[in-house]
Amino acid sequence: MERIGRQEIIDVHCHCFTGSGQTEIVTRGLAGLREAGVILLAVMGLVNPDLDAQEVWQLIPAGFENLGGPLFNEAAELLEFTRQSDSMLFPMLDTRMLHGQSQAAIEQLFRLGFRGIKGLYLPDDANDLSLSSIPATFGISLKQYLKQEWEIFAFAEANELPVLYHMDANRYGDMMRAILDDFPRLRINFPHFGIGRKAFSQILDTYPNAFTDIAYMRPHIQDNPASYADFISHYQTRVCFGTDALLYQPEIVLNYIELVRSLKLPAEVETLLFSGNPRRFLGLSA
Ligand SMILES: [Zn+2]
Repeated sequence: MERIGRQEIIDVHCHCFTGSGQTEIVTRGLAGLREAGVILLAVMGLVNPDLDAQEVWQLIPAGFENLGGPLFNEAAELLEFTRQSDSMLFPMLDTRMLHGQSQAAIEQLFRLGFRGIKGLYLPDDANDLSLSSIPATFGISLKQYLKQEWEIFAFAEANELPVLYHMDANRYGDMMRAILDDFPRLRINFPHFGIGRKAFSQILDTYPNAFTDIAYMRPHIQDNPASYADFISHYQTRVCFGTDALLYQPEIVLNYIELVRSLKLPAEVETLLFSGNPRRFLGLSA
């Protein structure tokens, strides 16, 4: 792949789904990505204290093959990959399978090296991913679920941790506003253009601490490149490079790099997307 200059690329949205059995594939993949200019990948790592090997799939969208352990307890292996990666990975704790004493569990994991938080807003069965709701999965009330999510946001804001939070602005726009009103200093990325660009643009217009990413949107962007290029240019300080790649799928990251270059964005906008906005979202110095 042709590269223009030494452009730095940061992917804010990958998932682990990988274990120590894939160490060689991961190491080789990261070396290839480094060649292509990728300096950092934020990788979401799941922990699962309660669910069995069938139940976990109620909280995982279809189409992602897991090569890691069947119970999705990825923390130890992701932190080990991070140590081996020469600082190329930025591990973020995926909290979707935590409930109950989430605060204490999270604090313990952060002492081990996690640097950000991932969540998924699943208050009912009508979410865009067709997943089970958290209240139904764990037998808790909606009120308990919201209290738990708010504790996570408060922890992230107090510790200046970035939060990647999958949430549909079309369906849950009011709740999105409630989060942003209550946590004005929280750096939060609602990925996939907040699921709906029209609804989400009102959020971006109102809240300067809200970010988004292009992860999983490649087919949509390819179908309508001019419209997405316009959106990215309009919100040029808010859209981050992200891919939804699993840690053993470096080719997906390369596909997304090519996709961004194919948009022929103004150079400064492309740089913001590839590294400027990811740095601000993750809280890294320029
Ligand atoms: Zn994702």
